[in-house]
Amino acid sequence: DAHYAVSSWGAGYFSVGERGTVLVHPDGEDSPGVDLHEIVSGLDKRGISAPVLLRFSGILANRLRRLRGAFDGAMEEMGYGGAFSAVYPIKVNQERHIVEEVARCGQELGFGLEVGSKPELLTVLAVTAGHNEQMIVCNGFKDARYIEAVALATKLGRKIVPVVESLRELELVVRISKEYDVRVPIGVRIKLSGSGSGRWKESVGSSSKFGLFVSELVEVMDRLKAYGMIDRLELLHCHAGSQMQDIRTVKSLVAELSQVYVDARAECENLKYLDIGGGLGVDYTGEHTSSDSSMNYTVEEFARDVVYRIGASCDAVGAAHPTIISECGRAMVAHASVLVVNVLGATGPGQLARVEATDDDALDRQGEIVQPLADLIGAKQELTEETALEVYHDMSEAYEAALSAFGLGYITLRQRSLAERLYWEIRGRLAEIISTMAEPPEELSDVNLAIPETYFCNFSLFQSLPDVWAIEQVFPVVPIHRLDEEPTRRVVLADITCDSDGKMTSFVSGEGVTPVLSAHPLRGEDYRLGIFLVGAYQEALGDLHNLFGETNAVHVEVSNGSWKIADVVRGETSEQVLGYMLYDPKALARAITLDCERAHEEGLLNVDEMRTFLRLYENGLSSYTYLESE
Ligand code: PLP
Repeated sequence: DAHYAVSSWGAGYFSVGERGTVLVHPDGEDSPGVDLHEIVSGLDKRGISAPVLLRFSGILANRLRRLRGAFDGAMEEMGYGGAFSAVYPIKVNQERHIVEEVARCGQELGFGLEVGSKPELLTVLAVTAGHNEQMIVCNGFKDARYIEAVALATKLGRKIVPVVESLRELELVVRISKEYDVRVPIGVRIKLSGSGSGRWKESVGSSSKFGLFVSELVEVMDRLKAYGMIDRLELLHCHAGSQMQDIRTVKSLVAELSQVYVDARAECENLKYLDIGGGLGVDYTGEHTSSDSSMNYTVEEFARDVVYRIGASCDAVGAAHPTIISECGRAMVAHASVLVVNVLGATGPGQLARVEATDDDALDRQGEIVQPLADLIGAKQELTEETALEVYHDMSEAYEAALSAFGLGYITLRQRSLAERLYWEIRGRLAEIISTMAEPPEELSDVNLAIPETYFCNFSLFQSLPDVWAIEQVFPVVPIHRLDEEPTRRVVLADITCDSDGKMTSFVSGEGVTPVLSAHPLRGEDYRLGIFLVGAYQEALGDLHNLFGETNAVHVEVSNGSWKIADVVRGETSEQVLGYMLYDPKALARAITLDCERAHEEGLLNVDEMRTFLRLYENGLSSYTYLESE
């Protein structure tokens, strides 16, 4: 745990087992775990290779139950008279299995779904068919077709609320409800004056993109009264930004929202839903602080604060307690997905081969001694715990002198290579010596002696972890095996895109967020890393940088300590991603065929070579976009 802090961020769903592998406990820490490495090895044997995204439906269901339990508990404790429901915003992860699973569990728990666009609405209407009781909240910009779909769904018997974000949308809802002669309930999203916190703090406040000013809410109420439709106003909504890390922000926003609710309720008898939006955080770093990737409260504390504040505002004026609705998407789905990647290789000074150097290697073209090289050779021989500081000074100076001697043409390429190897070898040995010293000299402990190696991993950051690139989001990374061995390497991770931004340089450890990951030396066999808590937003936002497509994805069901594969979704092929970019794979293959024929005619390729090349090309088009094992 000192290296990876699994017990801090794992929320009971992940632990390290006796065999040094990561265990997954979908029903929480006291439930039996299954071996994540065993699952990934099992998939590999079936030809489903890394990178692979594993989705644990059990974790998803457990998260939803925990949310239900937190609010039920808070309501019971405080004698709250209203109800609680959550609606899952499908934009957080629109993947079919996830949405279907949330909808299925939602039927048991009284939860619904939230949509923010017409295509999302069309999806959710189909997924919830046959379940009229499941609430659908419609946010986002709406045109007439969107509202027509809502009106007709209402006729079908669905419990669906369009949330108007502008007076124009209000007029559309009024007009279309009349046209279809249907009673469409209306929600209103408002801008609060309080400020949010964290990365998405602009989602709230007077300059936020969405919602009506309070004065516009009053205008909505006046217009509805004039139309004789004030009874349609049923829901009041506000979303204060995703990943609210600080509970104080939650408290002040809910307090303001409740106040708007009780006053509006005095004029709108049918106003009964108070939708507090999303924003319930996920503690990605396990630090339990208000830093960007963490949060300083629990789900239970969140529920108690929300219930208490809404209840208290209503009680102060004798208003009925509303049904509280939460749109917390991240907190529902983040834990359920784990991305497993394999490490392909490493680069860095630690990888340079050791050299044996003699004094002769330090002679220049004229047979004269090149002092910097001689000094480096000497430094290597003299290094002990006692001489560490002096050797450090000498070798730093000698290496710099060797580099400038090369620039001036005094030493050869081979001698520069020798200097480089000697320098990194001595530095590595110095690092080892320092790590065993009780009190290393001040200067040495300040110097970052061990430059991290880069481990190349078979995945695309832009496809699978876009938030790392876009907003420096931190996700916990843990080797899923060999955890019974001391991880002696300090590494950063790089993906296989040709983009230097495709790197991870922030990691979760027992000492908080660190710039290096503790990892094991590579031994020429598979070395697999799990990247955790990736279920929210990553899949929905990922892109096709370098044409790396979606990874393999597997749905895993766990019961009584054993696992089974419920579904496998093969990752995208080159052909598919080329199609998105409007290439026709057949036309590409034809162009290559014709070029081969030309080369054959010119005597450059024989028929066998031509066939091999064409087979390679066509197989390439129809296979996984990631690197495949031999
Ligand atoms: N509701 C609305 C209107 C949103 O814009 C968002 C996302 O930003 C959410 C809900 C979900 O937020 P979160 O996933 O942080 O709970």
